[in-house]
Amino acid sequence: MEEEEGEGEEYLFKVVIIGDSAVGKSNLLSRYARNEFNLHSKATIGVEFQTQSMDIDGKEVKAQIWDTAGQERFRAVTSAYYRGAFGTLLVYDISRRSSFDSIARWLDELNTHSDTTIMRMLVGNKCDLETLREVSIEEGKALAEAEGLFFIETSALDSTNVKTAFEIVIKEIYNNVSRKVL
Ligand code: GDP
Repeated sequence: MEEEEGEGEEYLFKVVIIGDSAVGKSNLLSRYARNEFNLHSKATIGVEFQTQSMDIDGKEVKAQIWDTAGQERFRAVTSAYYRGAFGTLLVYDISRRSSFDSIARWLDELNTHSDTTIMRMLVGNKCDLETLREVSIEEGKALAEAEGLFFIETSALDSTNVKTAFEIVIKEIYNNVSRKVL
């Protein structure tokens, strides 16, 4: 009997998380990968990644998700961090306008270090902090539309949309480009 095409194939995609310090990058990743949240997390310096698997069309799709682990504080996110990435989450904090204003700089950096086919998702994190909101959903959407980004608001604290955000990125990458793992 003929083997069905694509059966047993595995895929591995690198995804990078970028954005200003303290927007919640590490917590988004720990919420997604381990369902953990840290109120007073102190990032260890040095790049860290977690590998997560999901099933798409009966295939195992793995995402190697990288966190800057505090390096952005020293403007030390290097080209190596971006190398080979198929997708990125550009994160800001909805309760801190300066982190939203920084997205333009992160986009510049992304354009310098990666090609235009990289899947880009704008993430407005900390949407649980509604009373402290400084950036409206409309502003987030408008920026995403202008720059051709996907857009979602999340909360690593109460889990809102965290899984969805990562899964949209991974599915979208899978649908567009794929790299076969040997
Ligand atoms: P990073 O520097 O971007 O990796 O940010 P962290 O993940 O270390 O988070 C910075 C601070 O924001 C920590 O005190 C977290 O507890 C807090 N934080 C992260 N995500 C959320 C969220 O969704 N809601 C709230 N209220 N706080 C968050």
